[in-house]
Amino acid sequence: MKKTLLVLAVLLTANVVDAQIDPDYFLPKDITYNKEIATPEQFTGYETGEWHITPDKLYYYMLELARVSDRAIWEEYGRSYEARPLGQLIISSPENIKNIEQLRQQHLQLCDPSKSDNSDINNMPIFIKLGYGVHGNEASGPNSSVLTAYYLIAGEGKKIDELLKNTVILIDPSLNPDGMQRYSTWVNSTRSLNNNPDPNSWEFREPWPGGRTNHYWFDLNRDYIMLQQPESVGRVASFYRWRPNIVTDHHEMGANSTFFFQPGVQSRNNPLTPSENQYLTAEIGRYHEKYLDAIGSLYYTEEGFDDFYVGKGSSYPDIHGSVGILFEQAGVKGHLKEIPGGLLSFPFAIRNQFTVALSTLEAGLNMRVKLLESQKNFYKEALNEADKYPVKAYIFTEPADNGRLNAFIKNLLEHQIKVYRSARSIVKNGVEYKAANSYIVPLKQNEYRFIRSLFEPVKDFTDSIFYDISTWILPLSFNISYTEINVIKEMAGLTGEEILQPPLAEGKLIASENAYAYLFEWNEYLTPRALYELQDAGIITRVATDKFTCDDANLKKEFSYGTILIPAYGQNISRSELFKLLQYVAGDCGVTIYGVNTGLTPKGIDLGSNGFSVLQKPSVIMFVGDGISSSDAGEIWNIFDTRFHIPVTMITASRFENIDLSKYNVLIITGSPAVSSAGIDIIKRWNHNGGTIIAYEDGNEWLSKNKLADIEYVPASPSKVKNGVYLNRLADSQVKLIPGSIFETKLDLTHPLCYGYNSDILPVFKSGASAIRKDANVYNNPITYTSAPLLSGYCTMENIDRIKGTSFVSVHGSRIISIYDNTNFRAIWYGTNKVFMNAVFFGQLLGSRQ
Ligand SMILES: [Zn+2]
Repeated sequence: MKKTLLVLAVLLTANVVDAQIDPDYFLPKDITYNKEIATPEQFTGYETGEWHITPDKLYYYMLELARVSDRAIWEEYGRSYEARPLGQLIISSPENIKNIEQLRQQHLQLCDPSKSDNSDINNMPIFIKLGYGVHGNEASGPNSSVLTAYYLIAGEGKKIDELLKNTVILIDPSLNPDGMQRYSTWVNSTRSLNNNPDPNSWEFREPWPGGRTNHYWFDLNRDYIMLQQPESVGRVASFYRWRPNIVTDHHEMGANSTFFFQPGVQSRNNPLTPSENQYLTAEIGRYHEKYLDAIGSLYYTEEGFDDFYVGKGSSYPDIHGSVGILFEQAGVKGHLKEIPGGLLSFPFAIRNQFTVALSTLEAGLNMRVKLLESQKNFYKEALNEADKYPVKAYIFTEPADNGRLNAFIKNLLEHQIKVYRSARSIVKNGVEYKAANSYIVPLKQNEYRFIRSLFEPVKDFTDSIFYDISTWILPLSFNISYTEINVIKEMAGLTGEEILQPPLAEGKLIASENAYAYLFEWNEYLTPRALYELQDAGIITRVATDKFTCDDANLKKEFSYGTILIPAYGQNISRSELFKLLQYVAGDCGVTIYGVNTGLTPKGIDLGSNGFSVLQKPSVIMFVGDGISSSDAGEIWNIFDTRFHIPVTMITASRFENIDLSKYNVLIITGSPAVSSAGIDIIKRWNHNGGTIIAYEDGNEWLSKNKLADIEYVPASPSKVKNGVYLNRLADSQVKLIPGSIFETKLDLTHPLCYGYNSDILPVFKSGASAIRKDANVYNNPITYTSAPLLSGYCTMENIDRIKGTSFVSVHGSRIISIYDNTNFRAIWYGTNKVFMNAVFFGQLLGSRQ
């Protein structure tokens, strides 16, 4: 091993090491290493921890190990938005690698109760996945992955042979390479050659939006259920392809902490995850204990972090028969940093992460049979529990929006949930589930527990504190009608053919080329894309502000509020070109477009009525940068860009006054941009001249502070703690928080912000306990919380009382719209996306235009 230019590490205290690092600082000396294999240092040109590795070097090092070694292959499972490879280095003995497909197939049978009895568990390897850097700026994990890979590929001797013979190790070195790229570029480019540990240094102050998140600023460690980002889609598919028995998830926390490994807070485990999972986690923890004791690192367990939300990297495996382990290392966020009690170095952080990878591997090796048995039993017991459980299936339907319905089904299939067509129509609780567009999810299937977590609303909890959201009922977030079936008789003949691919929303143009005008309803999910495609082609469009019925020789149909009218005459393209364009738009967006032969309607407004308003194409500008919530802005950018194909101009407050605002007609504010009073005046004038302002979540406080709107917040209810003890003060203060729960709202379906909805009841996502009084003008409150609003999740009775009857969305004056909660949460709230897009497209209808 090359040692020139390196001096021995000087260990001052347990968590301090000099900037120059000896490889012996990391690598165990109880084995020898094959000199033919390039060390990370030889490959990258610097010792591990001296600089932050970039995702490209990390990737190419893994490829190199796969190239030179018969112990490893590289499997690519996807690409990030920025086209970076996502994948894992699969390491085992050369013999296992030769037979890897056979071993994989054999291993998968453990998760299939119809086959698992034939498994010869004593002679099967265990599968262990080591996952790094889902948060791109938590660098010690990915930087340690090269050491783990090198150790396993170059290590020689009986100990390594024994390990590789009995384990298949999947090293996923960077779960979020786009975020890691941003972060590593920042932290390397601001590093002094002589490390400056001053915490005030620029090096420790990553600029907005930081490298934690992916390209669209999504937290990928919250996307395991949502699966709205390509990194998660690929990763979860690879989880099902390999079904690892242990899945590690290497993170960083605040610099002043030490090291955390699971188990987490025991009162906050998800009740659907069998308790055996926590016993196994604790047993694995004994190995981390032994290894971290040996290097003298401080650590803790059972505090702070929990496994309640099963959409995280360390808890998704738990509800799928594996054991997920969260590791949290104190993060340097640089190279060397002063902390209370000494210095925290990047190499020290890396060594801890490397150490717990080794302890995990030893645990896996020693607990191999137990963990394989546990996985097998998990699925066998799931079917037994399903037999005893009163709910036999869920049935769901969405007759008016195939785009939304199909996105929901796609999500279920990606989680390996079996979905069937409904073979007959039924009516339950007043809802008709027609065979044509209803689907069945039987409970008696492998993912019984996970299905319950997605479908079963929960309002009772053993703890009142949540590390993340308290509920994630998918049919509610998709606004899909569903109900449980708990009478066996009702199941008879209900289950039709299995759905293997999500159905496609097929749009079509039902018209002749000499139509007088064209119409499409606003209920389909991609109608904003359809409308924008037409507007962008210069087509004049109008929106119906009232209902009407068409009845000519070809079409007899009722149309609702929000129907889009495209006159065939008076456009800038010929009627045949228009016909072709509409054919394309219908197909691209899954929208049905109807041709009509006359402007006269037998019922409701005629096509030339003033009840049809001419629409301007939205030209959208949104604040980003300091003061703005990057997750809110990122979700908005993501849905505009990836779903609706609508450009959004992103601007920082510092540049705002240098631009010509009149080019835009929609302004989105998701936080508190530092706009000067002159800038506020520009916004007021622009709004007066026809611009639409959409204030979103925290943007409403900014709106109120700058006197653009009168917003009255309902004061928080007084604290009920009377004789609290000091130790519980933090927990007491958290009791009243709303960590992310689902509430019911009521819609005024005639209001432009509610166009496209057929039911006046809409589930919404709410986090944070703010409540906003209704506007005095009754027409300014299109969406309000109902009188019994909690549908699922945690909320105190006092807060339920405060929230009922308050505003979810309100309108102030002309074209100023407040959306108080997150209609685009984690890009999974398909059900409320339309409210947001209505503000973008139809905000222009609100109030008089100057
Ligand atoms: Zn993290």
